[in-house]
Amino acid sequence: MPPSRDDLLRWDREHVWHAFTQMAEYEPLLIERGEGCTLIDIDGNRYLDAVSSLWCNVHGHRHPRIDAAIRSQLDKIAHTTLLGAGNPTTAELARRLVEIAPAGLNHVFFSDSGATAVEVALKMAFQYWQQRSDPRPKKTRFAALSEAYHGDTIGSVSLGGIDQFHEMFRPLLFDVLRLPIPDSYRLPPGVSNETALAHYAAEIERLVAEHHESLAALVVEPLVQGAAGMVMHPSGLLAALRDITRRYDVLLIADEVAVGFGRTGTMFACEQERVAPEILCLAKGITGGYLPLSATLATDDIWNAFLGGYAESKTLYHGHTYGGNPLGAAAALATLDVFAEEQTLARLPPKIARMGEHLERIAAHPRVGDTRRRGLIAGIELVADKSTKSPLPWTERWGHRVCLAARKHGVLMRPLGNVLVWMPPLAISLEELDRIAAATEAALAEVCRE
Ligand SMILES: *Cc1c(COP(=O)(O)O)cnc(C)c1O
Repeated sequence: MPPSRDDLLRWDREHVWHAFTQMAEYEPLLIERGEGCTLIDIDGNRYLDAVSSLWCNVHGHRHPRIDAAIRSQLDKIAHTTLLGAGNPTTAELARRLVEIAPAGLNHVFFSDSGATAVEVALKMAFQYWQQRSDPRPKKTRFAALSEAYHGDTIGSVSLGGIDQFHEMFRPLLFDVLRLPIPDSYRLPPGVSNETALAHYAAEIERLVAEHHESLAALVVEPLVQGAAGMVMHPSGLLAALRDITRRYDVLLIADEVAVGFGRTGTMFACEQERVAPEILCLAKGITGGYLPLSATLATDDIWNAFLGGYAESKTLYHGHTYGGNPLGAAAALATLDVFAEEQTLARLPPKIARMGEHLERIAAHPRVGDTRRRGLIAGIELVADKSTKSPLPWTERWGHRVCLAARKHGVLMRPLGNVLVWMPPLAISLEELDRIAAATEAALAEVCRE
């Protein structure tokens, strides 16, 4: 006999330790099926997937093309190792990624999550300076932005700057050079929209200039700092970081785990400022949101520093058992095929415009301090006071309460503190965007009446 509905709900609450979830307060929700941008729970309730099942679904759930690609790979083999061997599907994916990535990123290290893609990047950058032909052994530190988020393993948490998540672990972490967050909403005193770019670039340059001799790399989430609350950088900031890191001989690591694969309107966020980093981290959308797979891309210069006879010990001693898994690679190849076949990027502008119209209306709400958008990523920040931008107490969980209310209107969202997030699959329709906006507004009105 299959387990009953009530058994499953109980097992989910008692045995599954959910990520980023206070289990004492957790109320189970079991999503059993999906169709396009819709999720269906075990009771048959339907919800629009307004956050792409945590920022990773791209072309919708149960996409026939991706489903078929995984089945066809399954008929060959489910897994083989990348330790000293390869498989055709993963090799083809490496080639395709190199073709679409910013110029010069010719080598792909596969792992299985965003956090591991970042760990690999850190080790590559660190080891590169130790053993390149003109070594710089003092370059051992990393620079990262305030409120950065790069994953939850200890190395990526070290880069992280979100106190609520990261502070507990400080004693375990390595020290990083912390740069200011280039926030376009909460500007420092005396800084205006017009001067924000110059201000932040100058501050960052000052810190890099002071510390460059010890810096291996600067790590950045290009254009949008996701987990910080969809904080949007002033445009031009990424190009400025590229310029600063080049001038001071510091590697640039772009963490496009969240913003890659079309989310900001172009395949990669780096394209918008014509930036090519030395190292690029990709995950989340890479398999269309189907399977765990990630990639760390590097330039010839980095790759070459790791070449040598075995006894020279220049090998990158890092690997994950399931890195480059062929089922994931098949899903990733199909995801790229769908981008081409369905002209996914070319069809984004009307969706982006529609999202913008909804945000403009919502911005007038008395509790909404800011609405911000880049491509199909939006943040709606709830505040205590619109004029001073003073935050609502985080313990009151406004974002969480609005998202719970939105569920009753058939939309699944997950907030970042008091920032409501819209990050739907790129396959979302205009009509579905309208429903997401209507549910958000209804939920906001309900929570404000409470
Ligand atoms: C989600 C995220 C990660 C971590 O990815 P996981 O697959 O959850 O480990 C890293 N960097 C950024 C920018 C992210 O948004």
